[in-house]
Amino acid sequence: MDKHDNLIGGEWVSADAYGENRNPSNRDEVIGLYAQGSAADAERAVEAAQAAAPGWADATPQARHDLLEAVGRKLAERSQEIGRLLSREEGKTLAEGIGETLRAAQVFKFFAGEALRVAGDLQASVRPDIDVEVTREPVGVVGLITPWNFPIAIPAWKTAPALAYGNCVVLKPADLTPGCAHVIARLLDECGCPPGVFNLVMGRGSVVGETLVTHPDIDALSFTGSVPTGSHIAEVCGRMKRKSQLEMGGKNPMVVLNDADLDVAVAACLNGTFFSTGQRCTASSRLIVEAGIHDAFVEKLVAGMRALKVGDALAPETQIGPVVDGKQLQSNLSYVELARKEGAEVIGGEQLDLATNGFFQAPALFLGTNNSMRINREEIFGPCGSVIKVGDFDEALAVANDTEFGLSAGICTTSLKAARTFKRKSQAGMVMVNLPTAGVDFHVPFGGRKGSSFGPREQGRYAAEFYTTVKTAYVFAG
Ligand code: NDP
Repeated sequence: MDKHDNLIGGEWVSADAYGENRNPSNRDEVIGLYAQGSAADAERAVEAAQAAAPGWADATPQARHDLLEAVGRKLAERSQEIGRLLSREEGKTLAEGIGETLRAAQVFKFFAGEALRVAGDLQASVRPDIDVEVTREPVGVVGLITPWNFPIAIPAWKTAPALAYGNCVVLKPADLTPGCAHVIARLLDECGCPPGVFNLVMGRGSVVGETLVTHPDIDALSFTGSVPTGSHIAEVCGRMKRKSQLEMGGKNPMVVLNDADLDVAVAACLNGTFFSTGQRCTASSRLIVEAGIHDAFVEKLVAGMRALKVGDALAPETQIGPVVDGKQLQSNLSYVELARKEGAEVIGGEQLDLATNGFFQAPALFLGTNNSMRINREEIFGPCGSVIKVGDFDEALAVANDTEFGLSAGICTTSLKAARTFKRKSQAGMVMVNLPTAGVDFHVPFGGRKGSSFGPREQGRYAAEFYTTVKTAYVFAG
């Protein structure tokens, strides 16, 4: 069985312990053994990053561009093989796995370009004969902590801007899905990344992650994952007066108005609610449906949901792969039970016994729900959606905004006026019109409001806000 080591200071470093990476479509299949890094490994990685930081901060934009472009090219060239690994370790369908790998390639190529475009401002001073220069500098050593649900895209969209803007990185991927992050490390190494500029330490969040979070030589921390871990990181970073960027959960509303195109609305909700097994922070989990279209919408959605093929992630006919692990499956099943207890009519949602030993679950729809039920307040993170019937647009908008979260919000309507009002009044960071709440571009900002996000946005040019720090220089030429 192949052993996969950590990358620290340009060396592939073996660990005291290795963990099995198992396929959620078939628990009998071990994909590989991956290092379980220790606190000492994480400390060595921070030291290596610190030692490399001055050199990488002074590297030319061309050098940074070339590295990121080469990694982007290799990710695209190997997207079939890497996408297959992704589907085997996370459980997304093969099409989704390849698509996510190509997305990671696009992200690296986008930031290869951005490395050449780091701009500043030259402003006249209010005083005579003085110029004011505003320039962007790297933050220093950044710690990146990533979740299992986008095992290549999220490490890519944190690593690429960090390196493009001249920072050194220590990446700790989710323990459930280290394989894709290991591929990124291998490609960076193959493409000539200088020692220490990028370090990978795989292992537990409570060990490796916590060491990064509390390490005094980490200058900024970017995290995606659950609300409790994110809140803990925000508190520690606040105490240590250090930059943090947090992307956490969602309870994203999708409003369907009476005037919606029914086919468009059903397609958007099937995709947003159930695809990727509902394991997306942008999943459409609250379907807020106006009374006049409710029955027709539910009938068509249920038919579409029942036709979705659940199965092995690599089988060509599969549309919904397995849940990522046993813990998440048990949590999803307990929410299905809770929906019943709270008085919802439950369609689907049962555990499925298929040919392989995987964590399969039928998609679930909860009907006749209201927005105060726990199933509509807490993030489930599985293939489960609720329908909330409302009387009119104003009620739909109020219900959509009545949540602690604010990541993504959608509306299906043919009314320009309703779409415009929804865009303006939604309390989410991203708004979709006649599109699923999930599924975003790589070159524009990603992030939310309220309990969903904290700190500057990720992705696109807005990533510079987090990965750089601004310097204001005054020059007297008198
Ligand atoms: P976590 O927040 O625990 O995990 C996210 C990352 O943080 C992982 O790499 C994890 O490591 C790491 N981590 C855990 N504890 C610490 C710590 N004390 N210090 C530093 N890093 C830490 O989420 P889970 O994966 O356990 O998922 C739980 C729930 O979170 C899901 O059911 C879902 O509701 C939500 N979630 C939301 C995501 C989003 O995109 N918004 C993504 C993933 C989950 P480790 O390898 O040990 O897991």
